[in-house]
Amino acid sequence: MTTTMIGLDPLADPAEEVRHFVDDEIVPHADEWDRAERIPRELLGRISELGLWAPFLPPEHGGSAMPWTHVGRVHEEVGRGCSSVRSLLTVHTMVAGTVQRWGTDEQRARLLPALATGELLGAFCLSEPDSGSAADASGTVAVADGDGWTVTGTKKWITGGQIADLLLLFARTGDAMSAFLVPADTPGITVTPLTGMMGTPGSMLAQIDLDSVHLDAEALVGPENWAAGTVMTGALDLGRFSVACGSVGVIRACLDACVDYTTRRQVKGTGLAELPLIRRKISDMVVSSRAGRLLCAEAGSLKDAGDPATIMASWVAKYYASTAATRASAEAVQIHGANGFSPEYPVARLYRDARVAEVIEGSTELQQLTIADEAYREARR
Ligand SMILES: Cc1cc2nc3c(=O)[nH]c(=O)nc-3n(C[C@H](O)[C@H](O)[C@H](O)COP(=O)(O)OP(=O)(O)OC[C@H]3O[C@@H](n4cnc5c(N)ncnc54)[C@H](O)[C@@H]3O)c2cc1C
Repeated sequence: MTTTMIGLDPLADPAEEVRHFVDDEIVPHADEWDRAERIPRELLGRISELGLWAPFLPPEHGGSAMPWTHVGRVHEEVGRGCSSVRSLLTVHTMVAGTVQRWGTDEQRARLLPALATGELLGAFCLSEPDSGSAADASGTVAVADGDGWTVTGTKKWITGGQIADLLLLFARTGDAMSAFLVPADTPGITVTPLTGMMGTPGSMLAQIDLDSVHLDAEALVGPENWAAGTVMTGALDLGRFSVACGSVGVIRACLDACVDYTTRRQVKGTGLAELPLIRRKISDMVVSSRAGRLLCAEAGSLKDAGDPATIMASWVAKYYASTAATRASAEAVQIHGANGFSPEYPVARLYRDARVAEVIEGSTELQQLTIADEAYREARR
């Protein structure tokens, strides 16, 4: 299969072109999609036309070999417009990146072209009702059954689960974890939409129940019993990178909204923009968006160089950018006063969405522990 990529030169920084797409086709609708708790198919189709689902894939698999530094800029721009859309891109990236890195030749040939176009949408299925941070405590079990596997269990909080075609599913195989690529319409799978989420409600979360689901032997991706340190680590690394970049986009959206609002709003005849305490908040948003972008660029460059140091760089970028986005969006609500609580302004949505980034792909607390562990390991070397 060949993919029609419209206009995006993988060697050029895509931010400029994607910015127009985001400004024209995402920003005006983000609040409406938030309320409707879904992203329309037409928008997903536009992402396909622009070749943005998995542009990092090589041309023979339908991508444009876009460097990760540029992929990060795409996710930043999309995150500026709508974190629910960025979330769908994030989990799709995790699935496509996993097939690219760990898939067999047959899995790559069969799945990557359709993942590149978005004909197949991916979802990442790790969390369960009773295990999130403790990802290796999976209660979902896969038992070898002669010609494949029988899988039983429940996955929860699955971004894009309502619309996904291909699930990257983690399950316990004996004492260890293995990963499987599972068509979402496999008999025995039930998808239940999760609605009313505080943040990114448009990302169409689902609970996915698996009742004695039979998988062929070819469903296994990556080394059997070694998924925790390989497939899971790699996929979560891509997820963290994407969430970090998207969080930089959220900070920029807060900055744009606040500069606009404070330029127009008067308090006792003085423009809010003239008040030093307001200007300090604005300057913090400028600095944190630029610092976050530099950390993302570092993580992306290390990915492009194939340097495993990218994993720690992504942790650092995600920790910094997601916590900075929470601060920026809280200040954005504050700056808007009562209007900050109103659906007439985007900042309440930005605040709710920013909070999600501190929980997913390794919560803030886990990042703090991991980053400190690395500091002590470094000191012992
Ligand atoms: C909007 C949204 C989308 C999501 N999408 C997906 C998805 O697509 N796929 C998927 O698999 N999952 C998804 N998740 C689930 C997410 O990955 C988990 O919520 C996350 O891993 C945290 O797990 P938990 O909710 O079980 O919290 P818990 O693990 O129960 O943790 C609760 C709190 O305790 C803290 N904590 C845990 N351990 C420690 C420690 N050692 N020290 C200090 N504090 C600690 C955590 O940081 C957290 O604040 C999504 C969640 C949300 C909200």
